Amino acid sequence: MSAHSNPAGDPAVVGPHDPEHDPRASYALEPEYVAALTDRLVATGGTTAEVRSPLNDAPLAHIPQSTPGDVAEAFGRARRAQVAWARTPIEERQRALLRLHDLVLDRQDEIIDLIQWETGKARKHAFDEPLHVALTARYYGRTAKRHLATSRRPGVVPGLTRVDVNRVPKGVVGIISPWNYPFDLALIDGIAAVVAGNAVVAKPDAQTMLSALLGAELLEQAGIPRELWQVVAGPGAEIGGAIVAHADYVCFTGSTATGRVIARGCADRLIGCSLELGGKNPLLVLRDADVEKAAEGAVRASFSNSGQLCVSMERIFVADQVYDRFVARFVARTQAMTLGSTLEWGNDMGPLISQAQLDTVTAHVEDAVAKGARVLTGGNARPDLGPYFFEPTILEGVSPDMACFGKETFGPVVSLYRFHDEADAVDRANGGEYGLNASVYSEDRARARIVARYLKCGTVNVNEAFAATFASLDAPMGGMRESGMGRRQGAEGVLRYTETQSVATQRLIRFGPQFGMSDEAYAKLMNANLRLMKKLGRA
Ligand code: NAD
Repeated sequence: MSAHSNPAGDPAVVGPHDPEHDPRASYALEPEYVAALTDRLVATGGTTAEVRSPLNDAPLAHIPQSTPGDVAEAFGRARRAQVAWARTPIEERQRALLRLHDLVLDRQDEIIDLIQWETGKARKHAFDEPLHVALTARYYGRTAKRHLATSRRPGVVPGLTRVDVNRVPKGVVGIISPWNYPFDLALIDGIAAVVAGNAVVAKPDAQTMLSALLGAELLEQAGIPRELWQVVAGPGAEIGGAIVAHADYVCFTGSTATGRVIARGCADRLIGCSLELGGKNPLLVLRDADVEKAAEGAVRASFSNSGQLCVSMERIFVADQVYDRFVARFVARTQAMTLGSTLEWGNDMGPLISQAQLDTVTAHVEDAVAKGARVLTGGNARPDLGPYFFEPTILEGVSPDMACFGKETFGPVVSLYRFHDEADAVDRANGGEYGLNASVYSEDRARARIVARYLKCGTVNVNEAFAATFASLDAPMGGMRESGMGRRQGAEGVLRYTETQSVATQRLIRFGPQFGMSDEAYAKLMNANLRLMKKLGRA
């Protein structure tokens, strides 16, 4: 099925890659295509929410809304499906992920189109999403069995007490995801949950339901039973709250403010959660950095997905020795970026996703300028390029009284700070409450890794912006401090969805006096045994 048509009456169906095609004209997704996706929602409320595309501000879809009762129903269905799924051999669950890998690559054009329609992001940034989902599917498709294997541990009586530690799925995992990477973040955490034997009830962001629903369709085609992956739609507080009320574990990605609400709800129910939250990420350019490499990295670090990326950089600290050269190259590269609201390849940056985002970005820049910051490039909204367009913006002279000094802008705005002393730069980079991602540029990679250890961030990239850690799937990823709790990726990313269960099997002797031995004699024997075990070096 083609995804696009011209509702204005032109019989020609315009394909997504038609060079004549201007997405700011009145083209829309085909109603049948949207209906096929929304059909899998559990949504009986009878109301719909309109979604408009940030590419052209035209209506994109009407999404049926779920009620709290629908969320309960979705959990019921998921819970029933999970029982059989947990008994499905791990090899079969892994095979489904490897099929998902292929499906995502086969259908990436359609996936990327949908992501662009919903978010407005440049095509090359939309491409990152199926890429990361495929990487994640392949990673857990190959490693889950190893991570989840039952492990043997030493028993209390060597040779006579056998201990097995099993990994038991939690049950039904609630996944609440944001709009900025709507396909990627709707899938990657859930993939790890289902391979561990759980079911999922997902509540994607209201703006980006279709990308998440396409993900659910691909999962089903890959062999994940339809009932095992439920999707609900609706306002965060109401429907997100209902997810927390029913889940056995919650995986949340979004703002720190909402993360606190989720954590409180989970605490009340004594269930676990992982929280992937905001950041105010620092990039350090050390005195021996390759300035050209650092400037190239800084552009990607600051302006990928128009800065609406949890791991993107909003603060750049540059050593005195290279400051002028770095700034000149960074500004020149930023000014050379191609801006545009089209579905075609070739744009370096697209619009922001919404008026709310544009308002925040505009307010941060206006506040900084009013208080004395200098705009080295950018600084303006660009309604001529799209409804929510804001130029990539570099600021200098930002001080603590300005909103963009410590608050997450979540837009294409970055501040430059000069430093003389590396220890001071590390202290300033560690300022504030966040601790998600950092980047260090230096030609002395060993020294850069030492600097990395002092940064209070869950991931640090040396001579790269964020992609090196983000795509190294065996390495855990997540935030320190107010940037989050728990980790995605790696063993940690799948083990969070399991409980440990220790099974000890005892043979020959029992615990307590035997063969007519008195309690006192038994106590003496045990004491002697303790001393012997210590001498033998037992843990
Ligand atoms: P948000 O917290 O407003 O919304 C995220 C999700 O939570 C949405 O699905 C929303 O509907 C839901 N939600 C909102 N209120 C809720 C409530 N009271 N109870 C339950 N669910 C609720 O965040 P956002 O503005 O959509 O996303 C941007 C933020 O996400 C930024 O701060 C960004 O840094 C962060 N983020 C973090 C990561 C990461 O991996 N650390 C990744 C992407 C985005």
